[in-house]
Amino acid sequence: MNDKKAGIYSRTSDQLKERLYLLKGQWFVKGDACEVCGIVGNMPYKNGSRPQDFRDAVGQVLYNWSHNMVDPVLEQNGKRYWVIEREFKVVKPNMAQSKRFNLHWPRGVDDKTAFSFAETVVVTQGDVIGLGGEGNRGKSTFALNMAIENCEEHNVTLVVSENVHRLDERLSYVDWKNIFTEDGNWKFEVIEEKREERFLDIARSRKNNLVILDWLDASKDSYLIGQFYRAFSERLDKGIGMVIQQKRSYKDWAVGGEAARDYSSIFLLLQEGKLVVDKAKVYDYFDPNAKMYRFDIAKNGSRFANIAEVSDCPQCKGRKHYQGTKCGRCYGKGYISLAESDIEL
Ligand SMILES: [Zn+2]
Repeated sequence: MNDKKAGIYSRTSDQLKERLYLLKGQWFVKGDACEVCGIVGNMPYKNGSRPQDFRDAVGQVLYNWSHNMVDPVLEQNGKRYWVIEREFKVVKPNMAQSKRFNLHWPRGVDDKTAFSFAETVVVTQGDVIGLGGEGNRGKSTFALNMAIENCEEHNVTLVVSENVHRLDERLSYVDWKNIFTEDGNWKFEVIEEKREERFLDIARSRKNNLVILDWLDASKDSYLIGQFYRAFSERLDKGIGMVIQQKRSYKDWAVGGEAARDYSSIFLLLQEGKLVVDKAKVYDYFDPNAKMYRFDIAKNGSRFANIAEVSDCPQCKGRKHYQGTKCGRCYGKGYISLAESDIEL
């Protein structure tokens, strides 16, 4: 192998190793492996090498891995490959109770209001929690408050992909908790990172932490999102993960078969000043599924306020308009406070 070929081989091998989690749990062919590495078309690259050189390298890598005894190991069946999983979580007796993760949720710090689901949902080590939302509607405030509320009891890693420069300013508003150590650091760790393969490396190296990812682009294939959740959970041990996801609109969530929801233990939706418990797999005292809350964000995005449970407006059914005009029952908000709907009944 000449130098150039060897270089292409090692780059391809590294890249495929990083993206291999996307191919787990299914038979795949060389073309799939090329696709997850982004090798497409036939146009030569700027440096003169051709996509075909990389395709050849993928074939070589796959051949070597299926004749390998060190990770990653592939099983080969004709032209198809399967990633052989060699690390498993072994369960011992009486582990369930001790494996609970005492997670502290964001709350209305000034007015003592709270999301009631926080009292009942059960979070277990290795869980991944999802939070989806459109635009910039409180997702970062949620992520930041998860870090703040948990940094005294747990090791917390907050992975931020944008607006890192705003952190100092936002955190300067935190006056309900001392978030600084004696030597002037935050009590939680902040990592700036955009690439999702690196997110998984962070999870692997912080496997006992609360690892919060703010944020993951979820506009891609929901199958890939599911694989990401699974890979994230597999890399955790005593820790848990939280994935803040971005989607273009609520409609994207409403379609069935959303993989992130399947692979998460709790899935929350943030939309237009409302938080919805889309899924809570395990709970103690009452079923929080489909519970809905209104909230405000106060003091420069640093905190939540005026949290209250609400339900869809009985007149406009959440649509905000009724018979062509702004709904008079809910004043165009689409929801009414729960206390109000009780009176109605
Ligand atoms: Zn209404």
